[in-house]
Amino acid sequence: MPTSNTYTFKNLFFEATRLCNYACPMCMASSNDVKLVKKSRKQELSLKEIEQHIFKTVDKIGVEKITWSGGEFILRKDAIELVKLATNYGYSSVITTNGSKMTREKLLELKEASNGSVVIAVGINSIEDENSWTRDTDCEQSLAVLALCNELDIRQNVVVAIGQHNLKTIERTLQWLDDHHIPYNRSPYTARGYGREYWDELKFSKKNMQDTIHPALRKHANGYISYTPFFLSPELHDEISSGISNVTVPQNPSIGCWCGTWLAVNAEGDVSPCGILLDDVNCGNVREKTFQQIIDDSGVFQKILDRTHLKGKCGRCRYQFTCGGCRAMAFYESGDIMAEDPTCFFEPMDKTTVSEHEPETNKMFKKFVAISRFADKINEMKVTDKKQKHR
Ligand code: SF4
Ligand code: SF4
Repeated sequence: MPTSNTYTFKNLFFEATRLCNYACPMCMASSNDVKLVKKSRKQELSLKEIEQHIFKTVDKIGVEKITWSGGEFILRKDAIELVKLATNYGYSSVITTNGSKMTREKLLELKEASNGSVVIAVGINSIEDENSWTRDTDCEQSLAVLALCNELDIRQNVVVAIGQHNLKTIERTLQWLDDHHIPYNRSPYTARGYGREYWDELKFSKKNMQDTIHPALRKHANGYISYTPFFLSPELHDEISSGISNVTVPQNPSIGCWCGTWLAVNAEGDVSPCGILLDDVNCGNVREKTFQQIIDDSGVFQKILDRTHLKGKCGRCRYQFTCGGCRAMAFYESGDIMAEDPTCFFEPMDKTTVSEHEPETNKMFKKFVAISRFADKINEMKVTDKKQKHR
């Protein structure tokens, strides 16, 4: 049984408020529901509670980075103070934002509050017209924020939520991000929150994955390697990561499904193994238990940390360890968080079946590792340089 001595979670995804100034129709945090947001705000973790129940405890499970999300996190009056406090406790910050309030002044404040290490993540579902409906704005605003970040020497990231709404443009969007050297990660559109309203209409199928989404994702090394199906040789990951894993979930770097290597908290303090499972898969509340207690007591975390519990074809697959299948897609399609990923087109007989895409995945993985380790080195050098200048 995985215990607090045997696991390490590097990232915490924290939806610190449901408040938002936009009303994206399929918002997974239900921030477009005025009544629900009003109720949530009364139960929202306060700054003092965040310090007590998160900053003071989450390092015990290995967390180094906090990804602040919402709603629109920056609408919290104490947003800058929270980032500053997180920095004082030794956590780096990523801010996910709709971009509407990210003025030059706000970005500079965030940069200062994080000692220059903040990463700004904007959502762009398509660089073409389809963005307006799904993100409640055209992508020009997000692109303007990215340009400002460039000018201010702030690191950037883009989140692309994939569903039927952007299938036609996904390749061009990822190519554009790649051409501009902007790192991105994909997020599958699911039935969480208001996503439920459009689930039958907008969810993507196994065939969409095979014909359109996977060819686009596997082509670009600039995207994070957190997608499924991910056909990486377990032997290659073992070699590059020096065998580092979280029980049976790969780390250094994290790949495929990140469940078991990151975890998520909603505005009211409920914990889940992935941001996309928040509200629907609740493993405990930080006001009542420490993170260690939540993970130790939760049947969900105990199963997710040990991928031998995976079912169906994910359970007999060579990539059980390096991919793991999207647990959110499994849950929203079948109700079983350990079921096979319904969007995977690979049909393994057993663990000896090798995907035709493994050589390409291996090649892009090596390229990704080289790019990201080089970027980390450059960033470390910049931080050291800044420290020296301050002496
Ligand atoms: S369940 Fe896994 S693959 Fe799916 S979105 Fe969450 S971390 Fe990513
Ligand atoms: S069967 Fe499951 S583990 Fe194997 S590649 Fe497909 S999604 Fe990944």
